[in-house]
Amino acid sequence: MGMVMVKCPQTGHAISTGIKTDRESFRRSPVFFARSRCLICHTDHSWFAREAWVDEPSARALRRSAGSLA
Ligand SMILES: [Zn+2]
Repeated sequence: MGMVMVKCPQTGHAISTGIKTDRESFRRSPVFFARSRCLICHTDHSWFAREAWVDEPSARALRRSAGSLA
């Protein structure tokens, strides 16, 4: 299991959407549209599933170049 992350359009930082899933189910899920509260901007950002990724601990090394707040 991991947290679905998106990139903040204002700052370019990765932010958590608060949605927990695993990469396989996320990849298979139909394209959806969502809004998440950004902890950096304190505003709501709209995002599509195709712009998001699942931050799983095992995949973190691969995602390091994408940037992280952690
Ligand atoms: Zn933001």
